[in-house]
Amino acid sequence: MIRHHPDKNLLLEYASGSLPKGASLVVSAHIQMCAECRAQYRTMNTLGGSILESCAPQAVNDKAFHRLMGRIDQAAEPEQQVTPERSKSTEPMLADAPPVVHKLLEKNPPIKWKTIAPALKMCRLKTGQDQYEVSFHRLSCGGKVAEHDHRGYELTLVLYGSFSDSDGVYSPGDFLLREPGDVHRPTVTEDQECLCFSAVQAPVAITGVSGWLLNRLIPFRPG
Ligand SMILES: [Zn+2]
Repeated sequence: MIRHHPDKNLLLEYASGSLPKGASLVVSAHIQMCAECRAQYRTMNTLGGSILESCAPQAVNDKAFHRLMGRIDQAAEPEQQVTPERSKSTEPMLADAPPVVHKLLEKNPPIKWKTIAPALKMCRLKTGQDQYEVSFHRLSCGGKVAEHDHRGYELTLVLYGSFSDSDGVYSPGDFLLREPGDVHRPTVTEDQECLCFSAVQAPVAITGVSGWLLNRLIPFRPG
């Protein structure tokens, strides 16, 4: 059961197309996993459509029209239900990932994990934008991630396993938004690894005594 959802303002930003692409990918993946948010998203689109119908038509140039059609194509993605189709990925943890994640996997070469800390591996994904670093974070059983400080927004969706922090427990489909200034220390459950899909707006800073060194070892690469 999914217990943590994006709030209404974030869903509205997503539905109106004003959320940056990197962040949209994570919200879109959550909507594909969550019937409740999918219903809210459809209602927002229906309301938006009714408002548009009541407006007088305006002429647009060709460039703006094509840009708009591209956004409509992107916005249509969350309407897809999560298909039971098995992943072509070699990572069993990604087998039940939503379609938007599978699309990204097709555009990226085979997954390569980079060890960031003893309990944390990371795989960056190319998404064709430059505001957010989009990646998978893989945390080992019982692993604790060093306490860290968020310098920008971080959107996280749990795809496999679960972790907890001072605010609660997060399981597959759960969505988490961290804001600039938030500090937390996630801990993974003992019985299985945890895989998260994340979009990070700015470098995350490790706090504590070893932070000054680790912060230099983890490059921030939006893309
Ligand atoms: Zn939801």
